[in-house]
Amino acid sequence: MRKNIVAGNWKMNKTLQEGLALATELNESLAGVTPNCDVVIGTPFIHLASVAAAIDTNKIAVAAQNIADKDSGAFTGEVSAAMVKSTGASYVILGHSERREYYGETSETLNKKVTLALANGLTPIYCCGESLEIRNANTQNDFVKNQLDETIFNLSADDFSKLAIAYEPIWAIGTGVTASTAQAQDMLQFIRSIIAAKFGADIAQNTSILYGGSCNAKNAAELFSQPDIDGGLIGGASLKAADFKAIIDAF
Ligand code: PEP
Repeated sequence: MRKNIVAGNWKMNKTLQEGLALATELNESLAGVTPNCDVVIGTPFIHLASVAAAIDTNKIAVAAQNIADKDSGAFTGEVSAAMVKSTGASYVILGHSERREYYGETSETLNKKVTLALANGLTPIYCCGESLEIRNANTQNDFVKNQLDETIFNLSADDFSKLAIAYEPIWAIGTGVTASTAQAQDMLQFIRSIIAAKFGADIAQNTSILYGGSCNAKNAAELFSQPDIDGGLIGGASLKAADFKAIIDAF
């Protein structure tokens, strides 16, 4: 059975103190509660170890938002998968459209990052999704298939079965424009169908596929009620504990 996952992406927000306060508040709001989904918070690198130490990581897993595409060595400013793992984090968000657009992440780089994440025991949340131009041209399925073909579809079936996918149409990220429930469901169903064609029906049924893009407390329940939507990757609405908790409660 695949997992439902609600994952927050804090992006470059919150000082260490603010991040610790947010994580602690969320942790307290989940005390005595068993959520119907896995809960993940994706913090900046500098928060990882402190946040992991301050919360119940059996209830809230911690994610990095990136890792280096190298193992270790003379790569000033980079943070490796092994370093992230050593903080107590267990997930990493990879391939976010902001990293592709602003930091030039290519399929080749992402393929290395996914492989290193898996080799170091981190669960990748691999992001894909099209621009508005591509959506308007109605070529989003081909575009997303190509993103997957060039990165995670060349993993072994065993490795592939350890990751989660987040479909995040770029036009819905941080814009307040959510994909309609039908648009999100259609794309996630398509992604599941191409996973089935590549890796077989069992792996496709067991892969958690999330929707991301202006998901919030108001629209989460309807999105999560769809058969192929296994949760959300949440940006803005993960920055307040009450808002994020309301999304968790949508399951
Ligand atoms: C994101 O960037 O992963 C995201 C989904 O952001 P938002 O929820 O703010 O649209």
